[in-house]
Amino acid sequence: MSETGQPTSVEDDVVVTLDYTLTVDGEIIDTSEEDGPIQFIQGSGHIVAGLERAIYGMQMGESKEFTISAADGYGEEDPEAIADIPRSEFPPEIPLEPGVELQLTDKEGDELEAYIVSVDKGVVRLNFNHPLAGKELHFSVEVTDLRSATPEELDHGHVHEAGHEH
Ligand code: ZN
Repeated sequence: MSETGQPTSVEDDVVVTLDYTLTVDGEIIDTSEEDGPIQFIQGSGHIVAGLERAIYGMQMGESKEFTISAADGYGEEDPEAIADIPRSEFPPEIPLEPGVELQLTDKEGDELEAYIVSVDKGVVRLNFNHPLAGKELHFSVEVTDLRSATPEELDHGHVHEAGHEH
């Protein structure tokens, strides 16, 4: 804590604003240059576990790079989480092309996310793993703001942006 009572490094219950670039297999997957920085309460599990662990103690304005294993990122790929579905079961408005992400509802009414691996003859192969499962994640990050979370934010477990109370 500094004399103003605001945190000077990343610790639990601090609202962190982070510029980041995520690179996987040499390709930029996601960057705050396009989407803006991410903001989260440290320790709330809002970001992938390996990144949350890696940034503890980073100072305001500090930059670092991390490599995070799949297990500490989006998990290992489950080879069982692949399904072949007849093309005729998809509504015609869905573009059936590799890489397309789908939101599906199973028989119990739970929502599932999957992406199309391949489309062959009458069969669409779906992968229910996260698209980054099994991948090593390379993060380049910079801490651009730190502040104490409010009691209400801690209670809700997420950041309240100015003017967005809920
Ligand atoms: Zn809230």
